Amino acid sequence: MQVNSYLYVLMIVCSGLTLCVPTGNQTGLGSGNEVPPLLLVSFDGFRADYLNNYSFPNLEKFFSDGVLVHELTNVFTTKTFPNHYSLVTGLYAESHGMLANVMYDSVSNKTFSIKNDSDPFWWDEATPIWVSVEESGYKAAAAMWPGTDVSIQNHTLKHKFKYNPKMTFQNRLGNLTQWMTEDRSVKFSTLYWEEPDRSGHMYGPDNTTEMSRVLKEVDGHIGFLMEQLNRTGLWGKINVIITSDHGMTQCSQERVIKLDDCIHPSSYRVVDLTPVGAVIPLGDNSTVYKNLSRCHPHMKVYLKDEVPDRLHYKNNARIQPIILVADEGWTIVKNGRLPRLGDHGYDNTFPSMHPFLAAHGPAFRKGYKMSSLNSVDLYPLMCHLLGIPPKPNNGSFTYVRCALVNEQCGQLALAVGIVIGVLIILTTFTCLFKLMKNRDVSSSRPFARLELEEDDDDVPLLE
Ligand code: AMP
Ligand code: ZN
Ligand code: ZN
Repeated sequence: MQVNSYLYVLMIVCSGLTLCVPTGNQTGLGSGNEVPPLLLVSFDGFRADYLNNYSFPNLEKFFSDGVLVHELTNVFTTKTFPNHYSLVTGLYAESHGMLANVMYDSVSNKTFSIKNDSDPFWWDEATPIWVSVEESGYKAAAAMWPGTDVSIQNHTLKHKFKYNPKMTFQNRLGNLTQWMTEDRSVKFSTLYWEEPDRSGHMYGPDNTTEMSRVLKEVDGHIGFLMEQLNRTGLWGKINVIITSDHGMTQCSQERVIKLDDCIHPSSYRVVDLTPVGAVIPLGDNSTVYKNLSRCHPHMKVYLKDEVPDRLHYKNNARIQPIILVADEGWTIVKNGRLPRLGDHGYDNTFPSMHPFLAAHGPAFRKGYKMSSLNSVDLYPLMCHLLGIPPKPNNGSFTYVRCALVNEQCGQLALAVGIVIGVLIILTTFTCLFKLMKNRDVSSSRPFARLELEEDDDDVPLLE
């Protein structure tokens, strides 16, 4: 009887729950069944807290009618190529293989660098979303997003440019909007812009004069983006995500770690140097490791197998035998002076390494703010928006779905709360009921016995 009533209550609550789970179409479309195009924009090195410390009238206009995620937890190493590839694959660096801006593969003896990045070998461990989009029968277009000018998984984009840092923002966007308006099958576009990263490196993020100049320029580009989408009839009809790959922190000549002071230059080779060093010992491994471990209190030294799990940075053949990680704001050099006033690449738990995210369009809530998300969650979100099946990834749709207008995640949480609440109340009542029943039974027996005893006692007296 009790089990039945539990089941009955559960059935009622669960039917309420299904009413709260996403309704309407799953792709966040407006009317009809057509998938709205998605434009993904990255302003390189846009640190999350620039939003608190500088003025962004255009960006504020953009997210006041959309979604703002104050902080994205990105992936280690917090460099440009690893993070841009994570955004479009939903994978940590050890899983997609784009581990740093400079890499070496000892088996093939190949080297990767920003200036030598077009060998598919480095990209083929993952499938970026633009490949999946085209495999699903749509088209994709790209303006300079890292990897979009490379043939990945034997797939070359038709609508793309060979990387050219001199091409203006207006020109990059102009081509994308032309492709999107002329060809309705273009459903996914990516746009990359080099600032504020370039100025952050050159002047350091603490240089408020230079940073306010470049951030005003970036905000101007966002204003141009909204105007251009309006002019071409795309504003409000397409989904737009503006985000970045990482933040930036101030460096100083006072915070330099010189490897050659600690270890003989001929005993090691560095593949990548700062703030994450990738070291190949040339002599005895343990001596090189020992010397580096004692080198500087502001530099952590890991054997490849001992890199903390939370960094997701050990399970890949391209990771070198010894990894150095500088503390925030410290710079590793072989010898010599500080190479740049601002840098990134540090541990991805530092807020200074985090970017932000803003979104606008028919699929997104309006005036909605979220404190944080993982950057790998963007991939399942984008697959959902485009209605394409996601490849295996490290992201999750659970939290990111709250940004969507058709996903009532708050109500789902409420419904789960109601189920738990009802169960607690039922359990409490059942326990109380049992307790009272037991009391009745146990208290009636001694009383009866006492009466009998009294009767016994009374008998001789009466006689
Ligand atoms: P970093 O700040 O060292 O992580 O890298 C940023 C730099 O990467 C930018 O200043 C660009 O010069 C370079 N970069 C960005 N996108 C591309 C690309 N698609 N191809 C080649 N280099 C790129
Ligand atoms: Zn970058
Ligand atoms: Zn940079």
